Amino acid sequence: MSDEKKKALEAEIRSYVGKAVGPAVTGRDPINEPMIRQWCDAMGETHPAYLDSEAAKETVHGEIVAPPTMLQAWIMEGWEMHEGYDEPKNEQQRLHKLLADNGYTGVLGTNTEENYTRYLKLGERVKSLTVIDEISEEKATGAGIGYFITTKTVFENQDGEDLGSMSFRVLRFKPANPQPVSSEGGGEAAVVQKPSRIKPPMGHDNGWWWTRVAEDGVIPIQRCTGCQKLRHPPRPMCDACGEQRFDSIDASGRATVHTFTVIHYPQFPGYEYPMISVIVDLEEGERMASTLIDCKPEDVKIGMAVEAVIQEDEDGFKIPFFKPL
Ligand SMILES: [Zn+2]
Repeated sequence: MSDEKKKALEAEIRSYVGKAVGPAVTGRDPINEPMIRQWCDAMGETHPAYLDSEAAKETVHGEIVAPPTMLQAWIMEGWEMHEGYDEPKNEQQRLHKLLADNGYTGVLGTNTEENYTRYLKLGERVKSLTVIDEISEEKATGAGIGYFITTKTVFENQDGEDLGSMSFRVLRFKPANPQPVSSEGGGEAAVVQKPSRIKPPMGHDNGWWWTRVAEDGVIPIQRCTGCQKLRHPPRPMCDACGEQRFDSIDASGRATVHTFTVIHYPQFPGYEYPMISVIVDLEEGERMASTLIDCKPEDVKIGMAVEAVIQEDEDGFKIPFFKPL
């Protein structure tokens, strides 16, 4: 991108700072017990102040209240949220489309900070207003160069009483290393190579695992040398005996689908969509997250038999996938 074009783009994205994403949103339902129960189930929250009306009478609240950390759940839009990627319907989506159209096609949530003012009472309505709060200078990151965009949401009840706030930051980036390659005829026309997948973080605790996948063509399962317990994903210490030393066994590659989700959006460059993201039960007993390939989304079933296959991405990076057996 030329300096001029970039200056113009930056001036345009800066014009979004301070803008409300759209009109204030009122939650679809008032604070209610069924939603609190569902949320507590999903989060493993068992405090009786949220779940047991008799026990809640004995608390300072005198009745069931909603967990404060549930604040954002009350204004979630549901299925409608998937719309707007191609046809932006608010300022935030317009800003993201502008950046995507200029090559910043990747998006990564980086951090969120929430403040809770108080517990929410049954029957209250939550209203929120989200503003584009900050856009960083262009930064170089591991994922590629891009801009950090921070939105700030304030939450109020139906009478304008403060309930809390949230700031949410995403990185909108140009995926690193899209290498131009010549077309086969050797003509002038160069096609841009398919962008590559984002590589997993490989640190002290898990780098060995990826190295064995790449060099030995196996899926290793970490094993405690103290008590022989298997564990996956790799981590520094055995949760059974506290031993830090480990070796590994090679998984057979045979597994069954424990659960799955079909991902349509958001679409990262370098990945095929719809993508079937699976958790499999390895024959040896550990669970592993992966992607199911060579399978239509409508054909995947919980419990189906699958087998591992190690494939290379565009950069020669080896990744274990699963396919129907
Ligand atoms: Zn152990």
